[in-house]
Amino acid sequence: MAGKFKNCIALCCATKPLVVEDMATNGYTCDDAIEGLKKLLSEKGDLQAVAAAKIKQLTAELEAANGSDFNPVARIKDGFARFKKEKYETNPTLYGELAKSQSPKFLVFACSDSRVCPSHILDFQPGEAFVVRNIANMVPPYDTVKHSGVGAAVEYAVLHLKVTNIVVIGHSCCGGIKGLMSIPDDGTTATDFIEQWVKIGLPAKSKVKTDCTDLDFLEQCTNCEKEAVNVSLANLLTYPFVKEAVVKKQLSLRGGHYDFLKGAFDLWNLDFGISPSLF
Ligand SMILES: [Zn+2]
Repeated sequence: MAGKFKNCIALCCATKPLVVEDMATNGYTCDDAIEGLKKLLSEKGDLQAVAAAKIKQLTAELEAANGSDFNPVARIKDGFARFKKEKYETNPTLYGELAKSQSPKFLVFACSDSRVCPSHILDFQPGEAFVVRNIANMVPPYDTVKHSGVGAAVEYAVLHLKVTNIVVIGHSCCGGIKGLMSIPDDGTTATDFIEQWVKIGLPAKSKVKTDCTDLDFLEQCTNCEKEAVNVSLANLLTYPFVKEAVVKKQLSLRGGHYDFLKGAFDLWNLDFGISPSLF
């Protein structure tokens, strides 16, 4: 739809095209586009009647598109009201305790994918899991400069919260892993951040490309989703405080893989022996 608007607007006002598509990619909202069109309409008093009518029509179309049923503010307000009424106010003991402190047993790494929220799929209650989510649930190697965000989370969870378990959870149809598997052999990248980030899993990609030559691309991706978890588990051991806690048997590292096509969850220990599906 944006392409249609783009062409129409460029046609109507060729001297100063207002490109809705570009505005959208630069973070403008539909409201911005509507305001821009209205401003253009008021400024261009000398526009021919046909052109002005066209812009009015486009303005109306944009307003109609913006007037869909989805209201993000209402969704957020309604969601919090529902949570407060059904959970917060019915569990005063739990939320009273959590107001004082947190003592989660788990540090969980999961993908940012909207379908794999660990609190949903593992039914974690508030206070149970300290969660880090990123593209393809990667744990980078210890690096105080490049990966300080992840490092801070691991440090806080292990040294301050004293979690006793770290679980790295991959998942089916992971776009980040597919991106990793799609990086050309010469290493060239087309994105500002994504490919550079998922390259953390390059050892997993290499293993799969070597070991799974008989599999098609999507099957290789599935294997890589699990191997990348193993790379992350190995990377966790490059954090001195993680390694020390594991050696002292104060901390367990596990890998997991959630398959939302089959409704299955695999769990394995640091020795990388993948268990049969739990379900
Ligand atoms: Zn993913």
